Amino acid sequence: MANKRKTKRLSTRAVTRRVRQNIRSIPASTLEITTSNPSTSSKRSSLPSQQKITKRTKLDITSTSANSNSNLPMDGYTILQNQLLFTLMCKTNCESCGNRWNGTINIKKREGLFVILSFQCSSCTNTITIETSPKVVASDRRDINVRSQIGGHLCGIRYAGLAKLMGAMNLPSPIQDERYSKWDKNLLLSIKSFSDRSMKKAVGEAVTAANGKELMVSGDGFWQTRGFQSRHGAAALLSCNTAPKVLDIETCSKTCNVCFGALAIKNSNPAKYNDIIRSHHCEKNYNNSSGTIEAHAVLNMFQRSVSKYQIYYTKYVGDGDSKTFAALSDKPPYPGKVIKKIEDLNHFSKRMKHQLETKKRQYGKEQLSDG
Ligand SMILES: [Zn+2]
Ligand SMILES: [Zn+2]
Repeated sequence: MANKRKTKRLSTRAVTRRVRQNIRSIPASTLEITTSNPSTSSKRSSLPSQQKITKRTKLDITSTSANSNSNLPMDGYTILQNQLLFTLMCKTNCESCGNRWNGTINIKKREGLFVILSFQCSSCTNTITIETSPKVVASDRRDINVRSQIGGHLCGIRYAGLAKLMGAMNLPSPIQDERYSKWDKNLLLSIKSFSDRSMKKAVGEAVTAANGKELMVSGDGFWQTRGFQSRHGAAALLSCNTAPKVLDIETCSKTCNVCFGALAIKNSNPAKYNDIIRSHHCEKNYNNSSGTIEAHAVLNMFQRSVSKYQIYYTKYVGDGDSKTFAALSDKPPYPGKVIKKIEDLNHFSKRMKHQLETKKRQYGKEQLSDG
């Protein structure tokens, strides 16, 4: 069980890592802010760390500053203390009167981390303004606020955590809580659309690498909370190329927040309760025990692989002790095709070590028959 728990934590981390690898390409492909290269995450290999860093730096440079010799990513941000900004301004000349600038900096407008700053020259009162972050195309939202919101979710700290982080960094507070919740809904749509495209692309790459439609995949499950009591869980299937990528994800929820919240008015206002229950998109899609979520979710993904991607998962790398392969054997998803089970070395070694330690505990202090 302890090993299993650890596995789940690692797996969640692994998936988060892949999301993080892909996050740099969100602006170009989904949020449509800049023209940065959407394929920055295309090659993840087992290069040593130093090489990886060098490679990433090169990618940053080529993708963001094509027209200059600068090594500063033009779509990136720089945290600059306001005092230093003021000092910098004092080293420039006013564009209107030509005198050395000496004036005031004010916040004209603020929306979360985004601000409009105005610089007024004290000699001629000429004022110039700058916006600290671009707008997301076809939206009123600012890039920096969208990024911080995605970051909050990736780190699992959401609004309250972001507010603390911004406080500690001496940065402005994130957007107001109500707007944050409202924007979450739109953000989810964008993230879903992005992840669908990303997974489709990964399937294409896996098919090319395998030179056919029969793929080897590895799968693992993870839960929202540790252990097997969690009400929400998910599983992911990953390609087994040199740069493994997520091909499909399935989530299972044993509860629905809307159903749960509506219970509060079930007796006092049954008409409204029924209305809410009828009109909402219920998140609850699983009834069995949390421990079987992984097997259920993986089986679902196998069963839809042909209709979704026109591919077959014919080799499965599992974690040895899960119920998953049993589920795949009980309900074969592809008639006439056998799925081969491949045990991954990490789990095999862990189980072997565990069994050897058990034997050691059992016989460690006993005199064996052969002396
Ligand atoms: Zn001036
Ligand atoms: Zn519901």
